[in-house]
Amino acid sequence: MGVPVSIETDRNLTKASRDILLRRFVPDDVKQIRMEICRECPSWDERFNRCTECGCQMRVKASLTSSECPLKKWGRHLHAGNLSIDASEHEEGSK
Ligand code: SF4
Repeated sequence: MGVPVSIETDRNLTKASRDILLRRFVPDDVKQIRMEICRECPSWDERFNRCTECGCQMRVKASLTSSECPLKKWGRHLHAGNLSIDASEHEEGSK
């Protein structure tokens, strides 16, 4: 099964790279909750630990602050010290 590639996938990879470079990781309990939701989801691929909707490896994706489920089952993890995530979306919208 191939990995879906789209403009949205490219944007998500850019956000994920930014999170990794800036070390913006969610608390362990948030990652655990996200993974529990994924494991109950029909789009979860247990064999490869990935989401068949976005193609992402969920152990990595679930740990990053700007990650969100493509089916909106869980969202980004924002908190007061991490406002720069929203700034990137304003930059994209202003072009
Ligand atoms: S990211 Fe969303 S669609 Fe993908 S496996 Fe998790 S809950 Fe399902």
